[in-house]
Amino acid sequence: MKRSIRDLVGLEGKRILLRTDFNLPMNKVGRITDTTRVVNELPTIRYLVERGAKVIICSHLGRPKGFDFRLSLWPIALILMKYFPGKVQFAHKVIGKEVVEQVASMSNGSILLLENVRFYKEETENDPEFAKHLASLADIYVNDAFGVAHRKHASTFGVARLLPNAIGFLMENEINTIEDAIENPKKPFVAIFGGAKVQDKIKVILNIAKVADAVLIGGAMAYSFLVAQGYTVGQSLISADNVSSASQILDEVNAMGKRIILPIDHIAYNLADKKMKSFETDVLSGDMVGADIGPKTVKLFEEEIAGARQIVWNGPLGKYEDDEFKAGTFKIAKAIARAKAYSIVGGGDSVSAVKQAKCDKLINHISTGGGATLKLMSGETLPGIDVIQEKYI
Ligand code: ADP
Ligand code: MG
Repeated sequence: MKRSIRDLVGLEGKRILLRTDFNLPMNKVGRITDTTRVVNELPTIRYLVERGAKVIICSHLGRPKGFDFRLSLWPIALILMKYFPGKVQFAHKVIGKEVVEQVASMSNGSILLLENVRFYKEETENDPEFAKHLASLADIYVNDAFGVAHRKHASTFGVARLLPNAIGFLMENEINTIEDAIENPKKPFVAIFGGAKVQDKIKVILNIAKVADAVLIGGAMAYSFLVAQGYTVGQSLISADNVSSASQILDEVNAMGKRIILPIDHIAYNLADKKMKSFETDVLSGDMVGADIGPKTVKLFEEEIAGARQIVWNGPLGKYEDDEFKAGTFKIAKAIARAKAYSIVGGGDSVSAVKQAKCDKLINHISTGGGATLKLMSGETLPGIDVIQEKYI
């Protein structure tokens, strides 16, 4: 088990470099549309502030190439100021003399938010000099940025090797919840996968299939599975690579003696005449493009979900961004919310779909990671977690 901030003593006056995931969603004009990621981080920040630590917060926002005022963290400093009035300062840089001076003038229990760490190309390059500069700002490094724990960057990995380190509450909760679901699943355990690319998800599907009782497949990836089983899928989104990944998964999951359940009907549209949308069909052929699971599939999946004690879901079951094709995903979100099972939802689009369906409050664990969640569920090691010291027992 990794050392958490709970295990740190004597925090009064200590400079903590806290890596958070403040990569908040923004609209086209650069306005922040959802502050959940800041709210989720408050327990860790409060814990450190209340113990008199000097909390230096470091995060990325978007994928800037050099300095880009549209991706400044200043608006996030304003959000933090609402929660910690009079305690928050902003640094317009991440390293350098000015930042060093700002850190030196911090009082106990105050917060300094650094500018977007990805304004420096050294961050994603995991540059050792840059990591050294970051480390020189603090006495202890705390990683709470689960969303980027799979990245080997200077602020998620390099700096962690140079300071005594620990994980924050958000990271701790993600690791414990996901690992527990896979190591000690409540049975029956139903896993649901959707989205587009099978290839990206082979490892996670196979690792979860080992412990799940049934694996339900929807979304665009279902068409690669259907082709692998010899069905026609019309013009649905498939690729040779995805079909071969799907048949590998089918073989291995069948060999495990596990059930893999594919859609039995679809909501599709006609590629030739895009205006003719939302057909219900059992078989896809000709110009038909599958864009959502159909009502019979929804019912079939709902029955599996109702009987489950644990559910893990990643990947929308259709093109949920379009009103005509969101019903399957939303109905399954609602079925999961209704179920008595312990439920975990992970993946950027899946979480967004669950929120749009207004089911997020009824899901037991909404994972804050996309790629990181899938990697952890695959049983892979994540550099940002791996580099943290084990708990001293
Ligand atoms: P997550 O972010 O939750 O891991 P993915 O990124 O893997 O999910 O997949 C989400 C994308 O898959 C969405 O953009 C959605 O429109 C798309 N998708 C799902 N089903 C279909 C389909 N039948 N046809 C086209 N796109 C689909
Ligand atoms: Mg996605």
